Amino acid sequence: MRYAIGLDIGGTKIRSALGNEKGELSEFLSEETDSMRIEEQIYRMLDSYSRYDCIGIGSMGPLNSEKGIITNPPNTKAKIRNLKIVSLLEKRYKVRCKLLNDCIAGVYGEKAFGAGKGVKSLAYVTFSTGVGSGVIDNNRIITGKDGNGQEVGHCGVDADIRMACRCGCLGRHWAAYSAGISMPGFIKQMLLTKYRGRKSKLSARRSITPKEFFDIASNDEVGSELLEDLGRINASGISNIVNAFDPELITIGGSIALNNQEEILDPIKRYVKDYSINRVPKIMMTPLKGDIILAGAIAFILDATKM
Ligand SMILES: [Zn+2]
Repeated sequence: MRYAIGLDIGGTKIRSALGNEKGELSEFLSEETDSMRIEEQIYRMLDSYSRYDCIGIGSMGPLNSEKGIITNPPNTKAKIRNLKIVSLLEKRYKVRCKLLNDCIAGVYGEKAFGAGKGVKSLAYVTFSTGVGSGVIDNNRIITGKDGNGQEVGHCGVDADIRMACRCGCLGRHWAAYSAGISMPGFIKQMLLTKYRGRKSKLSARRSITPKEFFDIASNDEVGSELLEDLGRINASGISNIVNAFDPELITIGGSIALNNQEEILDPIKRYVKDYSINRVPKIMMTPLKGDIILAGAIAFILDATKM
């Protein structure tokens, strides 16, 4: 049996695990992403593994998967500019290494080990620090020229107010509302505009984290309406994938969705048909939960290095 290390480089956390061709994962490590010394942090984590044949990386984008470089991710405090992660790791660990956009790794993992087994066309969407997706069309991953294929977080969505996105765009980028990093600003803006003057437990707070929002929202009138607003925006975002790629299956993951499954999934299912021209596919939570990117990075590198 061949083994690979999977590495999941996210805006808030870096995770790693050892995995095999059956998708069995073990030896998990997880650390907060170090804002200053990310290379040393990755080395320290990977140094603890002993038996493996290759290393697969799923990372926040944008990146260049062919060159193995993470270019300039906007959703993190970590100082990353053109990090040559593949050549650094290949040099240090003397094994083959490949870099994928984390959501592309996610959809690869879903097809290899999750709900996408035997499904030819599928998408994976993550709600976490950012919003992203990966798509496999007719058994082929869609990568685009640099490997950032489906940055759906920066597709436009139907929204009543115009929020600036962290990528710099002043349009209606999905991530400007639903990404964990942007949600507090969106909620605050809605309380100051659409819900101005309404009584709500949410308005008492100076700022509100996504966790606090979801904890309060369903027991609060304004909060419940905000959940619907957010649900419509998410359905509109998901419909971009339905309309552009026409997949058979869309799975949903990422910490925000996994921690608030009903609040995220139900309104998407309710409203996605309002925005979709194509037949609405099956939409469900990923059974691989928080390990999907690790599983996909491992499956991908094991497939890529198969004799
Ligand atoms: Zn954007």
